[in-house]
Amino acid sequence: MNEFELIERYFRRPPQADWCRLGVGDDAAVIRPPEGEELVICSDTLVAGRHFPEDTAPADIGWKSLAVNLSDLAAMGARPLGCLLNLCLPQAEDSFLEGFASGFFSLAAQHGVELIGGDTTRGPLCISVTAFGAAKSSQLMRRDAARPGDIIAVEGRLGGAALALRQGAEASASLRDCLNRPRPLVEAGLLLAGTAHAAIDISDGLAADLNHILVASGVGARLDLAQLPLHPEIVAQDPLLARNLALEGGDDYALCVTLDPEDWDELDRLPGLSLRRIGEITEAPGLVAIDESGAEAPLKPAGFRHF
Ligand code: ADP
Ligand code: MG
Repeated sequence: MNEFELIERYFRRPPQADWCRLGVGDDAAVIRPPEGEELVICSDTLVAGRHFPEDTAPADIGWKSLAVNLSDLAAMGARPLGCLLNLCLPQAEDSFLEGFASGFFSLAAQHGVELIGGDTTRGPLCISVTAFGAAKSSQLMRRDAARPGDIIAVEGRLGGAALALRQGAEASASLRDCLNRPRPLVEAGLLLAGTAHAAIDISDGLAADLNHILVASGVGARLDLAQLPLHPEIVAQDPLLARNLALEGGDDYALCVTLDPEDWDELDRLPGLSLRRIGEITEAPGLVAIDESGAEAPLKPAGFRHF
């Protein structure tokens, strides 16, 4: 199977959405951006052995390569529209491609995402997806929008994926699901958009990702460690490890947002959101953690880094 047959067999699907004028098959795709909205675009690459264990099921790799991008759109408060898929494959194997496409398109279908193009090359397994969506400019949740006095809240649970990675084949099915099938919190992002100030998706651990908001906004934060929404299975196994994995592990794809305390009650009551209030934004810079005993200590924003 050459790459043209491969694209035809696995990735060419007639576009359904009217914003897509031309999809897979020409030199470039053509889209008509939604009127009155901003186009929001992001890109994320998964490298075998670095972003997922080499023995990960092809369907999980397909799912995750799109999920991490939809999570970025969710953190901006954007509604996903479509994506491009750049595949670098060691070989054109039906067994891999069938699984990959089934995982990829099952998540795409859940969010009405159209695959409108990409590129296919031979080399070490590496998948890069560029996704785009739409949002009203007033709804965007930017990292530089946190204000002193804001509540810090998390939607989703923390630590499960990092524990699954540690435990490997020993991990329970539900932990492995956290690692291999992260659910991008697209609907939650849309519910928060327009009310929440700043947002980020937690891919590298809460401490490091919250710190990006703090630096971009020129503020600090106090974090109540007792309130972190930890994955219940890790808490049952090892409460201290649970906290460390939440702060410094990765791959959770939960959302961390800041919002005006006046908006808390309304968002807290919304069906479709289950926000956990974990701290507040301060004028004084730096990240301070408060433990169960009430003791305060500076928290290092350590997390996953490539370099
Ligand atoms: P070109 O040589 O003009 O860049 P390609 O052979 O790379 O064309 O791609 C042919 C068509 O198939 C293009 O429309 C491209 O967007 C699409 N395409 C290539 N690889 C993929 C892929 N992995 N997923 C979806 N579309 C793809
Ligand atoms: Mg090309």
